[in-house]
Amino acid sequence: MDRKTSMLDDRLYDYLLSVSLRESPAQRALREETDRLEYAIMRTASEQAQFMALLIRVMGARRVIEIGTFTGYGTLAMALALPDDGRIVTCDVSEEWTAIARRHWSGAGVSAKIDLRLAPALQTLDALVEDGQSGSIDFAFIDADKVNMLPYYERCLSLVRRGGIIAVDNVLWGGQVIDPTDRNDSTLAIRQFNEFVHDDDRVDISLVPIGDGLFLARKR
Ligand code: CA
Repeated sequence: MDRKTSMLDDRLYDYLLSVSLRESPAQRALREETDRLEYAIMRTASEQAQFMALLIRVMGARRVIEIGTFTGYGTLAMALALPDDGRIVTCDVSEEWTAIARRHWSGAGVSAKIDLRLAPALQTLDALVEDGQSGSIDFAFIDADKVNMLPYYERCLSLVRRGGIIAVDNVLWGGQVIDPTDRNDSTLAIRQFNEFVHDDDRVDISLVPIGDGLFLARKR
């Protein structure tokens, strides 16, 4: 649940950032404002946002779905990596947090690429499926309430094209996934999700220990 890669000690982590992090002034301003909030821990790690932006460029992605906007730091990194005609649908239920996001997206000049849907994400995803958009999405990022991780994944698997990628955050959950005494609903849902995806032959997978653990699933 960390906004940094938790497997590295602080010195090595700082080194990693010092030699690899590239942030625009707008990204930096949004990160700094977010880190003053009570729930700053929910921000996507900087190096993880940059990794997803790189994936988007490698794939030549044009259409992205994000579940869990928060203050839009990950959204901004992905939007900057998309071509001018690229679009992100991003889902959240918080007016307060997404107001911060919108202000910074506007400052960065990427608002036209971002379609914020303020509604429970399952509703938004179901509406996209009903609208015939299955198979049209290049990249999906799931980083919202953990108890719905699997339902979000199933919707995203329908929406992404063959060869598209679903990236799911927090799958190592600060190490709590291997603590058998932790029976919290979120922890149980993450364990169930990880075991499910391991056996899911509809996708090629890799669990990347960046940030709090990012599961990548490529639709076959
Ligand atoms: Ca997260």
